[in-house]
Amino acid sequence: MHNRASTYTCLSFHPLCLPITSLPPPVFPRASTYTCLSFHPLCLPITSLPPPVFPAGILQPPFYHPAFPRSLNYGGIGVVIGHEITHGFDDRGRQFDKNGNLQQWWTPSDVSQFYQRASCMLDQYGEYEVDEVGLKINPVNTLGENIADNAGIKISYQAYQNWRKNNEETVMLPYVNLTHDQLFFLNFGQIWCEINSPEAMLTKIRSGQHSPNRFRQLSVVLE
Ligand SMILES: [Zn+2]
Repeated sequence: MHNRASTYTCLSFHPLCLPITSLPPPVFPRASTYTCLSFHPLCLPITSLPPPVFPAGILQPPFYHPAFPRSLNYGGIGVVIGHEITHGFDDRGRQFDKNGNLQQWWTPSDVSQFYQRASCMLDQYGEYEVDEVGLKINPVNTLGENIADNAGIKISYQAYQNWRKNNEETVMLPYVNLTHDQLFFLNFGQIWCEINSPEAMLTKIRSGQHSPNRFRQLSVVLE
């Protein structure tokens, strides 16, 4: 039965974030019995409190490589990790309590301040137009992802600065005369490279939860 969504922390609402053993109803905690085919590490029963899980497939360039300077890794997989953690506190994640139940646990004042701040992102993203299809981004559908994008890069950049307080980069990129702060943002830009057909872009705009990648990249560093 899939009528127990409130007991999951599948914040992406990915249709595949459902228990494989749907008959009988799920037993907790059994993280391994879930089919979360997206990269959402939070698609796990919160009661098991596992560390975030990232499929091995994402641990490769441009997101991560053990030989990369840390600046590239923080600008890549670091941003993704920050993004996923933030989903626990976005417009959907905030509605779940510590046990993964859909339950209001914030004070009314917290909720009101949350939406006050979130409305800035609604305004910001609602202005972005995707020229090739002549449509604007749906800022409501994409709000949770936009929140996670904005917080994810801040978290990772701060984590990188913290790491550098006690460590030094030992790997330099040959032929690239950029500082490590610049490399952080260079790789952040690289992870969002994509090409879409107009049809795919239309689908993304009409029903996607993510903003098109060019806006996922530019909006968080320009605004
Ligand atoms: Zn996300």
